[in-house]
Amino acid sequence: TLAGKTALVTGSTSGIGLGIAQALAAQGANIVFNGFGNADDIARLLDTTASQYGVQTVHNNADMSKSAEIEALFAFAAETFGGIDILVNNAGIQFVANVDDFPPEKWDAIIAINLTSAFHTTRLALPYMKGRNWGRIINLASTHGLVGSAGKSAYVAAKHGLVGFTKVSALETAQTGITVNAICPGFVLTPLVQKQVDDRAAKEGLSNDESKRALLADKQPSGDFVTPEQLGALAVFLCSDAAIQVRGAAWNMDGGWVAQ
Ligand code: NAD
Repeated sequence: TLAGKTALVTGSTSGIGLGIAQALAAQGANIVFNGFGNADDIARLLDTTASQYGVQTVHNNADMSKSAEIEALFAFAAETFGGIDILVNNAGIQFVANVDDFPPEKWDAIIAINLTSAFHTTRLALPYMKGRNWGRIINLASTHGLVGSAGKSAYVAAKHGLVGFTKVSALETAQTGITVNAICPGFVLTPLVQKQVDDRAAKEGLSNDESKRALLADKQPSGDFVTPEQLGALAVFLCSDAAIQVRGAAWNMDGGWVAQ
């Protein structure tokens, strides 16, 4: 059980982050939600999560590409809950284009949100975790933290960087009660991937279902999407006592993608 613990999940108003936040709440953790979206939808999300699991929920809309906003988010979390016991670095964006067509501002945004934000959150989270000699840091990397795909230069660079950062953070905390690991999902059908499904459907004249099947057939041998619930269960395991010696791992859950 994670009762009495507080988890910050960045980018948890949608997709994988939402699935992980709900899985941690189901174990009794209070949740600091973060991410963009419609204010009414977010308010409803906080209420349902709190009442369903009997935990406290708050939201902060810090932009993960801005270090000052990340610092303000940590000040807010410290005021509300004392500090963050479980940090899930999940916020991320994607953009697909070949290197010579890749907009430099998209490169900068992807590196800032998908990689640099984890440096800021980790440096701000560690002092409190060290003070209590307990902490869990989970970085949402990707199969693209382990292998490349054409058209995804910034994303693959950021995710490989995040896997490297995970290893160093794990080594620096190796003799403490804090563990740092990365999760490397294959395709999960979230808005981030639906956009790729839509782009492919338009380009190749496919139906939505045909486009999904084509995307999976390229990369994911199982032919099925990974789900946010499955990733939530892995995050819960990484937060458990049994996972104390899992340190610096880049754990793929990918329908066989990187086994090829
Ligand atoms: P999503 O688009 O469904 O959700 C992204 C979340 O991040 C949203 O809550 C959004 O509001 C938030 N966000 C975006 N920019 C932000 C910013 N600047 N500051 C704060 N929050 C911001 O995406 P998802 O598919 O759930 O992806 C979540 C993470 O998982 C990402 O890091 C992504 O790279 C990674 N991932 C996704 C897949 C996949 O197939 N969907 C596979 C591997 C890894």
